[in-house]
Amino acid sequence: MNKLKTFPQINTLINDESLKSHPFYIKAFFCKKVVSKFKENNTQNVSSKENLLLEIQKEIKAFYQKDLQSVINASGVVIHTNLGRSVIDKELYRACEEVLCNYSNIEFNLQSGKRGSRYALVLEKLKMLFECEEALVVNNNAAAVFLVLNSLCFDKEIISSRGELVEIGGSFRIPEVIKAAGVKLTEVGTSNKTHLKDYEKAINENTALILKTHKSNFALMGFHSEVHIKDLHCLAKDRGLLSYYDLGSGWCENLNKKLIKNEPKIKKLVQECDILSFSGDKLFGSVQAGIILGKKELIEKLGQNQLLRMLRVDKLTLAFLNESLKAYLEKDYEKITSLKLLNDDLSFIEEKALKTQKELKFQSELKRSKSLVGGGSMPDKSLDTCVLAFKGAALKLQDKFRSQNIIGRIENDEFVLDFRTIREEEIQKLIFKINQMENL
Ligand SMILES: *Cc1c(COP(=O)(O)O)cnc(C)c1O
Repeated sequence: MNKLKTFPQINTLINDESLKSHPFYIKAFFCKKVVSKFKENNTQNVSSKENLLLEIQKEIKAFYQKDLQSVINASGVVIHTNLGRSVIDKELYRACEEVLCNYSNIEFNLQSGKRGSRYALVLEKLKMLFECEEALVVNNNAAAVFLVLNSLCFDKEIISSRGELVEIGGSFRIPEVIKAAGVKLTEVGTSNKTHLKDYEKAINENTALILKTHKSNFALMGFHSEVHIKDLHCLAKDRGLLSYYDLGSGWCENLNKKLIKNEPKIKKLVQECDILSFSGDKLFGSVQAGIILGKKELIEKLGQNQLLRMLRVDKLTLAFLNESLKAYLEKDYEKITSLKLLNDDLSFIEEKALKTQKELKFQSELKRSKSLVGGGSMPDKSLDTCVLAFKGAALKLQDKFRSQNIIGRIENDEFVLDFRTIREEEIQKLIFKINQMENL
């Protein structure tokens, strides 16, 4: 007998009483998926209608569980790329709502009644904050690097230190981005040491630009040296070339004193090169965006590149970025959540941990520990923090807490919750979720 004939019609499954409460698109998708899965794997005898329906129900349930949902970041990593990097402040979010849930003047000049520039408001604020000639915003910093190199160096050569040809987040590799932008890379120096004379020797008539890339997600120990952007800029200027600093992260204002040593401050660096770029959602603490600052004539060139249209940002991004920039300009740093979490002092963190510990039905031990900045920022630095450590098999506990959307970490074979990244407004939710568990 033909095996396929034993399967119930898809429509019979979709219309089955047991699936009545589910929306058509969702159940139709999983009915088809389950039937083809059974056709591929199973013999006729297990493909009864009941078995199929059971599997369809399971898939639909899993589908709802997979939905985008909030988690409690108890990992201690403030800028956690897998958990959405920087958290958007609620007040800042509400300020955007008014603009986003109505028509807006996004590309309309209210004074002249004519078409306006989509970027104007945000760019003005960027220029104020960073005291630079010109600014531009694109989708993310990867797009910024691509746009800068493609606009300023297409078909030409750029020079980069071998020590800075980094990979970030698994899919962004500097040498490959350079190539994809239509630019030839000349590597100089070695992985641990590059000197100014290495750059000097590599310059030829095709060279257009000297690139410096922040190492972001790793730190070198022992003998190493790199050339400061200021010196690269002098050399570039001397030889009629451009200098570009891919900062990746980079900080703006009011960052924890313990973290700023040797860390690039954007406002200072923008004076020390022709053009630079960084991510909107790393240390800057806003939304995903690539922020480009620098000389007016260069940024105008980027503006003329057709690519800009493809890399342009949505009104959602612009609205949030606009609010973050306002917060910076008004020195309202509490609204920059990543900064706030990085700046919180130990006594405040301890208070949150103690308050939680008291209300938990399970035993935990309060301990001192260290948390990381994360997000490809400051791999060599950590901050003092307080954790609650739980007794029991660490891996098992980790899974158990994760099933409640609480993401902790394992440290010295113990499962811990780091209170640097648990915000005050999450404490009650955290206590509730933990106390809901039957046992640990
Ligand atoms: C993070 C980073 C990027 C990529 O930025 P995204 O905003 O994630 O696209 C590029 N370069 C450096 C040096 C970085 O640290």
